[in-house]
Amino acid sequence: MASSSSSSALLRRRTYPNFCAFAPLRPTRQPAASTSRAPVAPPPDHHQDAAAAAGHDPSPEEEERADVAAGALRVGIVGFGNFGQFIARGIQRRGHAVPATSRSDYFGYCARRGIRFFATADALCDAGPDVLLLCSSILSTEAVVRAVPFHKLRPDAIVADVLSVKQFPRNLLLEILPPGFGIVCTHPMFGPESGKHGWSGLPFVYDKVRVAQEGNQATKCEQFLSIFEEEGCRMVEMSCAEHDRYAAGSQFITHTIGRILAQLNLKSTPINTKGYETLLKLTENTVSDSFDLYYGLFMYNINATEQMENLEKAFQKVKEMLYGRLHNVLRKQIVERVPIP
Ligand code: NAP
Repeated sequence: MASSSSSSALLRRRTYPNFCAFAPLRPTRQPAASTSRAPVAPPPDHHQDAAAAAGHDPSPEEEERADVAAGALRVGIVGFGNFGQFIARGIQRRGHAVPATSRSDYFGYCARRGIRFFATADALCDAGPDVLLLCSSILSTEAVVRAVPFHKLRPDAIVADVLSVKQFPRNLLLEILPPGFGIVCTHPMFGPESGKHGWSGLPFVYDKVRVAQEGNQATKCEQFLSIFEEEGCRMVEMSCAEHDRYAAGSQFITHTIGRILAQLNLKSTPINTKGYETLLKLTENTVSDSFDLYYGLFMYNINATEQMENLEKAFQKVKEMLYGRLHNVLRKQIVERVPIP
Protein backbone atom coordinates (compact mmCIF):
# COMPACT_ATOMS: atom_id res chain seq x y z
CA MET A 1 0.00 0.00 0.00
CA ALA A 2 1.11 3.55 -0.53
CA SER A 3 2.61 4.94 2.64
CA SER A 4 0.91 7.87 4.31
CA SER A 5 4.07 9.93 3.80
CA SER A 6 4.00 9.36 0.04
CA SER A 7 0.27 10.18 0.05
CA SER A 8 0.82 13.44 1.89
CA ALA A 9 3.64 14.28 -0.51
CA LEU A 10 1.11 13.68 -3.26
CA LEU A 11 -1.28 16.08 -1.55
CA ARG A 12 1.33 18.77 -1.38
CA ARG A 13 2.34 18.40 -5.01
CA ARG A 14 -1.07 18.61 -6.59
CA THR A 15 -4.05 20.91 -6.56
CA TYR A 16 -7.43 19.36 -7.15
CA PRO A 17 -10.43 20.65 -9.02
CA ASN A 18 -14.02 19.83 -8.07
CA PHE A 19 -15.63 16.35 -8.09
CA CYS A 20 -18.65 16.52 -10.33
CA ALA A 21 -18.51 19.66 -12.41
CA PHE A 22 -21.43 20.91 -10.32
CA ALA A 23 -20.38 19.85 -6.83
CA PRO A 24 -17.45 21.32 -4.88
CA LEU A 25 -15.50 19.07 -2.49
CA ARG A 26 -17.08 19.22 0.93
CA PRO A 27 -15.16 19.15 4.18
CA THR A 28 -14.47 15.66 5.52
CA ARG A 29 -17.23 14.14 7.61
CA GLN A 30 -16.35 11.76 10.41
CA PRO A 31 -17.18 8.19 9.37
CA ALA A 32 -20.19 6.66 11.25
CA ALA A 33 -19.24 4.83 14.11
CA SER A 34 -22.12 -20.55 -0.83
CA THR A 35 -22.16 -21.33 -3.80
CA SER A 36 -18.51 -22.12 -4.18
CA ARG A 37 -16.66 -21.11 -7.28
CA ALA A 38 -13.27 -22.32 -8.37
CA PRO A 39 -10.28 -20.28 -7.18
CA VAL A 40 -9.42 -17.62 -9.68
CA ALA A 41 -6.00 -17.02 -11.15
CA PRO A 42 -5.13 -13.33 -11.40
CA PRO A 43 -5.19 -11.88 -14.90
CA PRO A 44 -1.87 -11.17 -16.62
CA ASP A 45 -0.18 -8.31 -14.79
CA HIS A 46 -0.77 -5.25 -16.91
CA HIS A 47 0.64 -2.93 -14.24
CA GLN A 48 4.21 -3.11 -15.44
CA ASP A 49 6.95 -1.42 -13.48
CA ALA A 50 7.14 1.31 -16.07
CA ALA A 51 9.40 3.48 -13.94
CA ALA A 52 12.11 0.87 -13.73
CA ALA A 53 11.77 0.11 -17.42
CA ALA A 54 11.93 3.77 -18.33
CA GLY A 55 14.65 4.53 -15.77
CA HIS A 56 12.94 7.55 -14.13
CA ASP A 57 11.57 8.41 -10.67
CA PRO A 58 8.29 6.53 -10.05
CA SER A 59 5.08 8.52 -10.32
CA PRO A 60 2.46 8.17 -7.53
CA GLU A 61 0.61 5.65 -9.74
CA GLU A 62 3.78 3.59 -10.15
CA GLU A 63 4.52 3.76 -6.41
CA GLU A 64 1.03 2.46 -5.66
CA ARG A 65 1.33 -0.36 -8.20
CA ALA A 66 4.63 -1.45 -6.69
CA ASP A 67 2.95 -1.63 -3.26
CA VAL A 68 0.10 -3.99 -4.21
CA ALA A 69 0.82 -7.62 -5.00
CA ALA A 70 1.47 -8.47 -8.64
CA GLY A 71 -1.83 -9.34 -10.32
CA ALA A 72 -3.87 -7.58 -7.63
CA LEU A 73 -6.85 -5.56 -8.77
CA ARG A 74 -7.21 -1.82 -8.50
CA VAL A 75 -10.79 -1.33 -7.40
CA GLY A 76 -11.60 2.36 -7.82
CA ILE A 77 -14.31 3.36 -5.35
CA VAL A 78 -16.69 6.16 -6.29
CA GLY A 79 -18.50 7.40 -3.15
CA PHE A 80 -16.29 7.03 -0.11
CA GLY A 81 -18.87 7.50 2.66
CA ASN A 82 -19.97 5.05 5.33
CA PHE A 83 -20.30 2.01 3.07
CA GLY A 84 -17.49 2.90 0.64
CA GLN A 85 -15.00 2.98 3.51
CA PHE A 86 -16.37 -0.22 4.99
CA ILE A 87 -16.10 -2.23 1.78
CA ALA A 88 -12.66 -0.75 1.02
CA ARG A 89 -11.34 -2.37 4.21
CA GLY A 90 -12.41 -5.84 3.03
CA ILE A 91 -10.95 -5.31 -0.44
CA GLN A 92 -7.66 -4.17 1.09
CA ARG A 93 -7.63 -7.24 3.37
CA ARG A 94 -7.50 -9.34 0.18
CA GLY A 95 -4.42 -7.43 -1.02
CA HIS A 96 -6.07 -5.23 -3.65
CA ALA A 97 -5.67 -1.48 -4.06
CA VAL A 98 -8.66 0.83 -3.51
CA PRO A 99 -8.05 4.23 -5.07
CA ALA A 100 -11.10 6.36 -4.29
CA THR A 101 -13.00 9.52 -5.05
CA SER A 102 -16.01 11.15 -3.45
CA ARG A 103 -18.00 14.34 -3.22
CA SER A 104 -16.47 15.11 0.19
CA ASP A 105 -12.81 15.44 1.06
CA TYR A 106 -11.39 12.17 2.41
CA PHE A 107 -7.72 12.96 1.78
CA GLY A 108 -6.76 12.75 5.46
CA TYR A 109 -8.69 9.53 6.09
CA CYS A 110 -7.18 7.90 3.00
CA ALA A 111 -3.63 9.08 3.66
CA ARG A 112 -3.71 7.27 7.02
CA ARG A 113 -4.83 4.04 5.36
CA GLY A 114 -2.60 3.78 2.32
CA ILE A 115 -5.38 4.74 -0.06
CA ARG A 116 -4.91 7.16 -2.96
CA PHE A 117 -7.74 9.67 -2.88
CA PHE A 118 -8.62 11.62 -6.01
CA ALA A 119 -10.64 14.81 -5.93
CA THR A 120 -12.36 13.98 -9.20
CA ALA A 121 -13.79 10.96 -10.97
CA ASP A 122 -11.72 12.18 -13.92
CA ALA A 123 -8.47 11.74 -12.04
CA LEU A 124 -9.56 8.35 -10.71
CA CYS A 125 -10.34 7.11 -14.23
CA ASP A 126 -6.96 8.40 -15.43
CA ALA A 127 -5.34 6.17 -12.80
CA GLY A 128 -6.62 3.11 -14.72
CA PRO A 129 -8.69 1.09 -12.23
CA ASP A 130 -9.58 -2.49 -13.25
CA VAL A 131 -12.94 -2.20 -11.56
CA LEU A 132 -14.90 0.99 -10.93
CA LEU A 133 -17.09 0.31 -7.90
CA LEU A 134 -20.02 2.68 -7.39
CA CYS A 135 -20.72 3.18 -3.67
CA SER A 136 -22.65 6.44 -3.90
CA SER A 137 -26.09 6.91 -2.38
CA ILE A 138 -28.96 5.51 -4.44
CA LEU A 139 -30.36 9.01 -4.87
CA SER A 140 -27.12 10.53 -6.22
CA THR A 141 -26.01 7.62 -8.39
CA GLU A 142 -27.48 8.83 -11.67
CA ALA A 143 -25.72 12.22 -11.38
CA VAL A 144 -22.52 10.54 -10.20
CA VAL A 145 -22.51 8.04 -13.09
CA ARG A 146 -23.24 10.73 -15.65
CA ALA A 147 -20.18 12.66 -14.42
CA VAL A 148 -17.78 9.71 -14.90
CA PRO A 149 -15.60 10.04 -18.03
CA PHE A 150 -15.89 6.38 -19.03
CA HIS A 151 -13.84 6.94 -22.19
CA LYS A 152 -10.81 7.35 -19.92
CA LEU A 153 -11.15 3.86 -18.44
CA ARG A 154 -9.17 0.86 -19.64
CA PRO A 155 -11.15 -0.84 -22.43
CA ASP A 156 -11.44 -4.07 -20.40
CA ALA A 157 -12.59 -2.27 -17.23
CA ILE A 158 -15.59 -3.51 -15.27
CA VAL A 159 -18.12 -1.18 -13.70
CA ALA A 160 -19.78 -2.60 -10.59
CA ASP A 161 -22.10 -1.17 -7.96
CA VAL A 162 -23.22 -2.00 -4.42
CA LEU A 163 -26.58 -0.22 -4.40
CA SER A 164 -29.24 -1.75 -2.16
CA VAL A 165 -31.64 -1.74 -5.11
CA LYS A 166 -30.63 -3.49 -8.30
CA GLN A 167 -32.90 -2.94 -11.30
CA PHE A 168 -32.26 0.80 -11.27
CA PRO A 169 -28.41 0.68 -11.50
CA ARG A 170 -28.60 -2.22 -13.98
CA ASN A 171 -30.79 -0.26 -16.38
CA LEU A 172 -28.89 2.98 -15.79
CA LEU A 173 -25.51 1.39 -16.53
CA LEU A 174 -26.81 -0.41 -19.62
CA GLU A 175 -28.13 2.93 -20.84
CA ILE A 176 -25.12 5.12 -20.10
CA LEU A 177 -22.01 2.93 -20.38
CA PRO A 178 -20.26 2.57 -23.73
CA PRO A 179 -20.91 -0.99 -25.03
CA GLY A 180 -17.46 -2.51 -24.35
CA PHE A 181 -17.42 -2.18 -20.57
CA GLY A 182 -18.39 -5.02 -18.29
CA ILE A 183 -21.26 -4.51 -15.83
CA VAL A 184 -21.60 -6.42 -12.58
CA CYS A 185 -24.42 -5.43 -10.24
CA THR A 186 -23.92 -6.51 -6.64
CA HIS A 187 -25.53 -6.06 -3.25
CA PRO A 188 -23.58 -7.04 -0.16
CA MET A 189 -26.51 -7.82 2.18
CA PHE A 190 -24.63 -6.41 5.17
CA GLY A 191 -23.04 -3.18 6.27
CA PRO A 192 -20.71 -1.55 8.79
CA GLU A 193 -22.87 -2.71 11.71
CA SER A 194 -23.81 -6.28 10.72
CA GLY A 195 -20.40 -6.92 9.10
CA LYS A 196 -18.21 -5.37 11.77
CA HIS A 197 -16.97 -8.76 13.03
CA GLY A 198 -16.26 -10.14 9.54
CA TRP A 199 -18.24 -11.13 6.48
CA SER A 200 -18.31 -14.87 7.02
CA GLY A 201 -21.68 -16.41 6.11
CA LEU A 202 -23.21 -13.07 5.09
CA PRO A 203 -25.07 -13.07 1.74
CA PHE A 204 -23.51 -11.35 -1.25
CA VAL A 205 -25.90 -11.00 -4.21
CA TYR A 206 -24.51 -10.49 -7.70
CA ASP A 207 -25.69 -10.40 -11.29
CA LYS A 208 -23.14 -10.49 -14.12
CA VAL A 209 -25.19 -8.18 -16.31
CA ARG A 210 -22.65 -7.88 -19.14
CA VAL A 211 -19.25 -9.56 -19.10
CA ALA A 212 -17.32 -10.25 -22.32
CA GLN A 213 -15.90 -13.74 -22.47
CA GLU A 214 -12.98 -12.78 -24.69
CA GLY A 215 -10.05 -10.77 -23.27
CA ASN A 216 -9.50 -10.10 -19.59
CA GLN A 217 -12.98 -9.09 -18.54
CA ALA A 218 -14.31 -12.49 -17.43
CA THR A 219 -11.16 -13.21 -15.43
CA LYS A 220 -11.27 -9.79 -13.76
CA CYS A 221 -14.91 -10.28 -12.92
CA GLU A 222 -14.18 -13.63 -11.25
CA GLN A 223 -11.23 -12.11 -9.42
CA PHE A 224 -13.43 -9.26 -8.17
CA LEU A 225 -16.14 -11.66 -6.98
CA SER A 226 -13.54 -13.89 -5.34
CA ILE A 227 -12.75 -11.02 -2.93
CA PHE A 228 -16.13 -11.59 -1.27
CA GLU A 229 -15.97 -15.35 -1.57
CA GLU A 230 -12.57 -15.41 0.13
CA GLU A 231 -13.94 -13.18 2.91
CA GLY A 232 -16.44 -15.98 3.54
CA CYS A 233 -19.58 -14.39 2.04
CA ARG A 234 -22.42 -16.66 0.92
CA MET A 235 -22.39 -15.94 -2.81
CA VAL A 236 -25.90 -15.71 -4.30
CA GLU A 237 -26.22 -15.20 -8.06
CA MET A 238 -29.65 -13.84 -9.00
CA SER A 239 -31.21 -11.41 -11.45
CA CYS A 240 -31.63 -7.79 -10.44
CA ALA A 241 -35.42 -8.08 -10.77
CA GLU A 242 -35.50 -11.11 -8.46
CA HIS A 243 -33.30 -9.30 -5.94
CA ASP A 244 -35.67 -6.33 -5.82
CA ARG A 245 -38.69 -8.58 -5.21
CA TYR A 246 -37.01 -10.36 -2.30
CA ALA A 247 -35.45 -7.19 -0.89
CA ALA A 248 -38.77 -5.29 -0.80
CA GLY A 249 -40.32 -8.10 1.23
CA SER A 250 -37.38 -8.41 3.62
CA GLN A 251 -34.93 -5.52 3.78
CA PHE A 252 -37.43 -2.74 3.08
CA ILE A 253 -39.89 -4.16 5.65
CA THR A 254 -37.07 -4.38 8.20
CA HIS A 255 -36.01 -0.77 7.62
CA THR A 256 -39.62 0.44 7.74
CA ILE A 257 -40.33 -1.29 11.04
CA GLY A 258 -37.06 0.14 12.40
CA ARG A 259 -38.07 3.64 11.29
CA ILE A 260 -41.53 3.28 12.82
CA LEU A 261 -40.05 2.09 16.12
CA ALA A 262 -37.64 5.03 16.07
CA GLN A 263 -40.68 7.34 16.01
CA LEU A 264 -41.81 5.74 19.27
CA ASN A 265 -38.57 6.82 20.94
CA LEU A 266 -38.29 3.48 22.76
CA LYS A 267 -36.09 3.38 25.85
CA SER A 268 -34.35 0.56 27.62
CA THR A 269 -36.13 -0.48 30.85
CA PRO A 270 -35.03 -2.48 33.91
CA ILE A 271 -37.25 -5.36 32.71
CA ASN A 272 -36.33 -5.72 29.02
CA THR A 273 -37.37 -9.01 27.45
CA LYS A 274 -35.15 -10.59 24.80
CA GLY A 275 -37.73 -9.62 22.18
CA TYR A 276 -37.68 -5.99 23.31
CA GLU A 277 -33.85 -5.98 23.22
CA THR A 278 -34.10 -7.16 19.61
CA LEU A 279 -36.41 -4.25 18.78
CA LEU A 280 -34.07 -1.74 20.43
CA LYS A 281 -31.17 -3.15 18.40
CA LEU A 282 -33.20 -3.04 15.19
CA THR A 283 -34.08 0.60 15.82
CA GLU A 284 -30.47 1.50 16.51
CA ASN A 285 -29.19 -0.31 13.38
CA THR A 286 -31.85 1.19 11.14
CA VAL A 287 -31.34 4.81 12.12
CA SER A 288 -27.56 4.47 11.85
CA ASP A 289 -28.11 4.27 8.06
CA SER A 290 -28.81 7.57 6.32
CA PHE A 291 -32.41 8.55 5.55
CA ASP A 292 -31.26 8.91 1.92
CA LEU A 293 -30.57 5.19 1.93
CA TYR A 294 -34.02 4.37 3.29
CA TYR A 295 -35.71 6.72 0.85
CA GLY A 296 -33.71 5.07 -1.95
CA LEU A 297 -35.01 1.63 -0.87
CA PHE A 298 -38.53 3.01 -1.24
CA MET A 299 -38.28 5.21 -4.32
CA TYR A 300 -35.99 3.05 -6.46
CA ASN A 301 -37.58 -0.36 -5.90
CA ILE A 302 -40.79 -0.85 -7.84
CA ASN A 303 -42.00 -3.42 -5.28
CA ALA A 304 -41.69 -1.16 -2.23
CA THR A 305 -45.04 0.65 -2.49
CA GLU A 306 -46.93 -2.64 -2.44
CA GLN A 307 -45.05 -3.69 0.70
CA MET A 308 -45.84 -0.35 2.35
CA GLU A 309 -49.53 -0.90 1.63
CA ASN A 310 -49.33 -4.48 2.90
CA LEU A 311 -47.85 -3.21 6.15
CA GLU A 312 -50.62 -0.68 6.59
CA LYS A 313 -53.28 -3.33 5.92
CA ALA A 314 -51.61 -5.69 8.37
CA PHE A 315 -51.62 -3.02 11.08
CA GLN A 316 -55.31 -2.29 10.50
CA LYS A 317 -56.07 -6.01 10.64
CA VAL A 318 -54.32 -6.44 13.95
CA LYS A 319 -56.14 -3.40 15.37
CA GLU A 320 -59.47 -4.82 14.24
CA MET A 321 -58.69 -8.14 15.89
CA LEU A 322 -58.08 -6.33 19.18
CA TYR A 323 -60.87 -3.80 19.07
CA GLY A 324 -63.33 -6.37 17.77
CA ARG A 325 -63.30 -7.90 21.21
CA LEU A 326 -65.20 -4.94 22.66
CA HIS A 327 -62.47 -4.47 25.17
CA ASN A 328 -63.70 -1.02 26.15
CA VAL A 329 -67.04 -2.37 27.33
CA LEU A 330 -65.37 -5.16 29.22
CA ARG A 331 -62.89 -2.85 30.88
CA LYS A 332 -65.72 -0.68 32.18
CA GLN A 333 -67.38 -3.74 33.57
CA ILE A 334 -64.28 -5.27 35.12
CA VAL A 335 -62.38 -2.26 36.36
CA GLU A 336 -65.01 0.38 36.91
CA ARG A 337 -67.73 -2.13 37.93
CA VAL A 338 -70.26 -0.54 35.57
CA PRO A 339 -73.17 -2.95 35.05
CA ILE A 340 -73.83 -3.97 31.45
CA PRO A 341 -77.05 -2.23 30.33
P1 NAP B 1 -25.72 6.71 1.62
O1 NAP B 1 -26.23 7.88 2.35
O2 NAP B 1 -26.67 5.86 0.89
O3 NAP B 1 -24.57 7.18 0.61
C1 NAP B 1 -23.50 8.00 1.02
C2 NAP B 1 -22.55 8.14 -0.14
O4 NAP B 1 -23.18 8.82 -1.24
C3 NAP B 1 -21.33 8.94 0.21
O5 NAP B 1 -20.22 8.40 -0.44
C4 NAP B 1 -21.67 10.33 -0.32
O6 NAP B 1 -20.51 11.03 -0.67
C5 NAP B 1 -22.44 9.99 -1.57
N1 NAP B 1 -23.36 11.05 -1.94
C6 NAP B 1 -24.51 11.40 -1.32
N2 NAP B 1 -25.11 12.44 -1.97
C7 NAP B 1 -24.32 12.74 -3.03
C8 NAP B 1 -24.39 13.71 -4.06
N3 NAP B 1 -25.41 14.57 -4.15
N4 NAP B 1 -23.40 13.73 -4.98
C9 NAP B 1 -22.36 12.87 -4.91
N5 NAP B 1 -22.23 11.93 -3.95
C10 NAP B 1 -23.19 11.86 -3.01
O7 NAP B 1 -24.95 5.83 2.73
P2 NAP B 1 -23.98 4.56 2.63
O8 NAP B 1 -24.35 3.70 3.77
O9 NAP B 1 -22.57 5.02 2.55
O10 NAP B 1 -24.40 3.79 1.29
C11 NAP B 1 -23.67 3.90 0.09
C12 NAP B 1 -24.21 2.89 -0.92
O11 NAP B 1 -23.99 1.57 -0.42
C13 NAP B 1 -25.71 3.04 -1.17
O12 NAP B 1 -25.97 2.90 -2.54
C14 NAP B 1 -26.31 1.89 -0.37
O13 NAP B 1 -27.53 1.42 -0.95
C15 NAP B 1 -25.21 0.83 -0.49
N6 NAP B 1 -25.19 -0.15 0.59
C16 NAP B 1 -25.19 0.31 1.89
C17 NAP B 1 -25.19 -0.62 2.94
C18 NAP B 1 -25.20 -0.17 4.37
O14 NAP B 1 -25.36 -1.02 5.27
N7 NAP B 1 -24.98 1.07 4.69
C19 NAP B 1 -25.20 -2.00 2.63
C20 NAP B 1 -25.18 -2.42 1.30
C21 NAP B 1 -25.17 -1.48 0.29
P3 NAP B 1 -19.68 11.87 0.41
O15 NAP B 1 -19.46 10.97 1.57
O16 NAP B 1 -18.45 12.20 -0.34
O17 NAP B 1 -20.52 13.06 0.78
